[in-house]
Amino acid sequence: MTDSQESGRNQRAQSSSLYRKYRPRSFDPAELVGQEHIARTLRNAIGLGRIAHAYLFCGPRGTGKTSTARLLAKAVNCLDPDPWARPCNACTACEAINTGSAVDIVEIDAASNRGVDDVRDLREKVKYAPSQLRVKFYIIDEAHQLTRDAFNAFLKTLEEPPPHVAFVLATTEPDKLPDTVASRCQRFDFHRIPLSSMLARLRWVCQQEGIEIDDDALALIARQATGSLRDALGLLERMALFAEGAEGRVRITAEAVRQALGLSRDERLAGLVDALIRRNAGAGLRIIAEAAEDGEDLQQFGRQITGYLRTLLHLRAGGRDDLADPAAREQAGRFSLAELATLVRIYSGLELVLPRSGLDPQLPLELATVEAVLRLSGEPGALATPARDAIDARSPAQ
Ligand SMILES: [Zn+2]
Repeated sequence: MTDSQESGRNQRAQSSSLYRKYRPRSFDPAELVGQEHIARTLRNAIGLGRIAHAYLFCGPRGTGKTSTARLLAKAVNCLDPDPWARPCNACTACEAINTGSAVDIVEIDAASNRGVDDVRDLREKVKYAPSQLRVKFYIIDEAHQLTRDAFNAFLKTLEEPPPHVAFVLATTEPDKLPDTVASRCQRFDFHRIPLSSMLARLRWVCQQEGIEIDDDALALIARQATGSLRDALGLLERMALFAEGAEGRVRITAEAVRQALGLSRDERLAGLVDALIRRNAGAGLRIIAEAAEDGEDLQQFGRQITGYLRTLLHLRAGGRDDLADPAAREQAGRFSLAELATLVRIYSGLELVLPRSGLDPQLPLELATVEAVLRLSGEPGALATPARDAIDARSPAQ
């Protein structure tokens, strides 16, 4: 893929996605969400003029690695006379990068350009001076996907980088990079984005887009995204399309998000836990049967009950209690810490059992619930036949 094809592709995608539309434009923590440590370090590097030739950005997907790479490229190339004011977002260089028309910012997906020939091609190109900007940036996404030969070829470029070129290697799996490559890069570790920062950013995007959204719906989206802002904005975008009503008015409710995610109603989760509190296996089985009849995704239901019990475990242990409602706190108080640990262990076992059991997910859920009630009641027989063994015995030979 040529540089111009690459930037053309980026431009098109840019107009179609909230994530691209709301990429951070500056190192402001309100924009570069949840990565304050990185924003501060890079801002100082720009201010002091200490720019490295190669960077390694590591961290989970959707936490801002390539966005930060573009931001860095912009700050390095910004024409504002005050280095501490870069990026200014007003000069021609900033403008070109913001609109995606800067041909000197080259994004390469290593997953589809992973061979030694691709890297040789790259080595040829880096010899040429940038056409508009001062420093040409190569952003290599999913860098761990490069083959060993490709890394060896790339190493030569890293050892003697031309002065007008900088590299940013982004990866979710830094351990797969050869030490020889990693040691020549300045490394930054991106963290999962905290829930509070995620909520603030989502709320701001909704305001900008004229999307009306319930706080509960926002919290559901943020939690589902587990620290990935890209996932959260992708989900928000889907929900906005889904919720668009007459006259273009968009209103997203928690119920709509639950439906779209196949999330079960909170009341059903609380009801199942209530059955456990009362040591009432029959009531628990009825709730599971109702969920099945309503066409709920039971695998998702199992995941949610595990997540909910885990919240109760945290509450009971005196840990984090953000976003926990009083009802959850009340339920947490009805168990001992040891009981909650046991329950989390039983239900989290479903994650291992369900994908390989070949069974309707209703049965493992039922067995887990019965086992939970037996364990809570102190039935000795429960220890001899945990749900997982029972399912292993029934599942087809592998
Ligand atoms: Zn500028």
